[in-house]
Amino acid sequence: MLRLSTFPIQTLKSRPNVSDNESTGILLQWWYIRQEMAGVYNFLPMGLRVLRNIENIVRAEMDNAGYHETLMAVISGKESWDKTGRWDMDVMFHVPAHGNKEYSINPTNEETVVPMMKEFLQSYKNYPTCVYHIQKKFRNEKRAKSGLLRGREFLMKDAYSFHIDESEFSEFYENAKVVYKRIFERLGVGADTYETVADGGDFTDKYSHEFQTVLPIGEDEIYICKWCQLGHNKEIVEGDFVCTSCWSLEYDLKQASEVGNIFPLETKFSKAFELEYLDGENKKIDKVLMGCYGIGISRLMGVIAEYSITDKGIAWPESIAPATHYIIVIGEDNLDIATKLAEELESQWKTVVLDDRMGRKFGFGQKAGDCELWGIPNRIVFSPKTLEQGGYELLERGEKSSIVKL
Ligand code: ATP
Ligand code: MG
Repeated sequence: MLRLSTFPIQTLKSRPNVSDNESTGILLQWWYIRQEMAGVYNFLPMGLRVLRNIENIVRAEMDNAGYHETLMAVISGKESWDKTGRWDMDVMFHVPAHGNKEYSINPTNEETVVPMMKEFLQSYKNYPTCVYHIQKKFRNEKRAKSGLLRGREFLMKDAYSFHIDESEFSEFYENAKVVYKRIFERLGVGADTYETVADGGDFTDKYSHEFQTVLPIGEDEIYICKWCQLGHNKEIVEGDFVCTSCWSLEYDLKQASEVGNIFPLETKFSKAFELEYLDGENKKIDKVLMGCYGIGISRLMGVIAEYSITDKGIAWPESIAPATHYIIVIGEDNLDIATKLAEELESQWKTVVLDDRMGRKFGFGQKAGDCELWGIPNRIVFSPKTLEQGGYELLERGEKSSIVKL
């Protein structure tokens, strides 16, 4: 449990003015994050809890779908990047090392995952497979923007799949969309997150697919079909427009933020690293298809914060709130009984913030206000008044408060 008495909250008196969005100001003011420099943030206990909750939902769904978790290196050598011709990508941070060497601080991990997996993928029997990791990425973005939405250091889930059969790849790719939809549903943004057809970039002649959450501060513009709800990124609509799933010509144009995307990589990276396998007749085959599947974990925290702003603070969806329960303790004498309930709740997999701050400054009004600001969905009060009525007061989000007898 998080005891507020032992980690004094350094909330700021006034809200920092972040020109292009409101939620970053709240995240800074209310002890979630602190800025290290432009586009780089430290996560404080409340913020880290939200970030971890997002991460754990993503992890649970990836594991459930049969993706295998790994943790790949953050830095890598120039040789791998020379093989794919990406050493000079403009977003790449380079660091000097001993012996006139240079390393990259990885903006993405194709150059790590293919050499790593090559060792295991030598027979047709090893396919298909998919690995992922959840790790910081580093990109020298020209402009860091909108707080956590476009950072120079950020947390991403990236997965990479390997296939030897086109139709099996297509099936896997389509299933990734289903997994992503479930993730965004669980994160509370499912209703406003659209599968969006986008450019395949350098990787493929095919389209890629983004998952875009409609948000006024989002950087992208997407057309959403009024009938089938499929989105098209404005980038490709202005090039050559296809109506890939229905023939309707009625679209809404919306501002949105890309919270995830999936790409068919075809053989771009497998060929660069000479990934080959032996087929059933012991013949060497050099055609391994790959897909990659990204989710911006820290961007999602910023997106969901902006999406969940109320006049009181941020009403986090229950699945990712910093805690499920906030226990207000009024009066030192009631601390033991409140702690006991907190322990009991945590033994039932709930998470608790115990507001055990004492003293004149920390009256009921202050504590109740903080609970609302942090968007914690269930509030419990232990005070002389509630105990006189035989128990504690429980206030669940959207409900009326009631006394729960002990
Ligand atoms: P964008 O189009 O926003 O620049 P991208 O297409 O380069 O992102 P990927 O490299 O595929 O994205 O990264 C996967 C996910 O990581 C993105 O969908 C996005 O949610 C997140 N992401 C990408 N760049 C950043 C960044 N600079 N800061 C925070 N999150 C990011
Ligand atoms: Mg993109």
